Amino acid sequence: MLAAFGSTTTLCAVCRRWGGLRVCAACVASHADDSAARCPRCALRLPVRSAPCVECLRDAPPQTHTVCAVDYGFPWDTLLRRLKFEGQVDLARPLGRLLAQAIAAAATPDPDLVTAVPLSPTRLASRGYNQAWLIARQVAAARKRPIVHLLERHLDTPEQASLDRAQRLANLRSAFGVPSAAQPRLRGRRVALVDDVMTTGATVAECAGTLLSAGAAEVQVWAVARTPAG
Ligand SMILES: [Zn+2]
Ligand SMILES: [Zn+2]
Repeated sequence: MLAAFGSTTTLCAVCRRWGGLRVCAACVASHADDSAARCPRCALRLPVRSAPCVECLRDAPPQTHTVCAVDYGFPWDTLLRRLKFEGQVDLARPLGRLLAQAIAAAATPDPDLVTAVPLSPTRLASRGYNQAWLIARQVAAARKRPIVHLLERHLDTPEQASLDRAQRLANLRSAFGVPSAAQPRLRGRRVALVDDVMTTGATVAECAGTLLSAGAAEVQVWAVARTPAG
């Protein structure tokens, strides 16, 4: 009996209509603007498609490319919060699919390995999962690339929103490392680093720098959502 309802048994997390997908095609079409012009280096939304943004021209981040699917705003902010804080891990699949489509459209060089921004062991234990890893798993499967643990997080960083830029950077310094067991696998490889949300870019820049110092040939960043310029 259930099979007969196979295509109509999922409630869209955005419009609450029944269908076959957790985020329906109509909601993706109306809330994800895949024609948005973004800086190729940091994925900041730009008024017109152009070379890197002013910020990247002045002080380029360590990653060679950044791909983000959407701006951090309705309804994606709600879905990302539900995935991260409310245990709604089934949202990793539609969010990962959205990101995989953006990566295909951006046509950046295919990485050898996919990894994710890690949580500290303490935070991983209290949350029970790493939302960035869940998204990375979806994207790695879609891109048919291996997903590997390449980074560890030594320090818990306080909620970044309450800190200014200098405090954030100080907090992030030496927060990440590459476990010695992962180093041979990493050397000379092109890595894609996945995160759920890219806010200032400080976290992914710190992770990318750590991967490059440990021998990665190149790092690109893939994140579902990018916080627009303030
Ligand atoms: Zn919908
Ligand atoms: Zn930029």
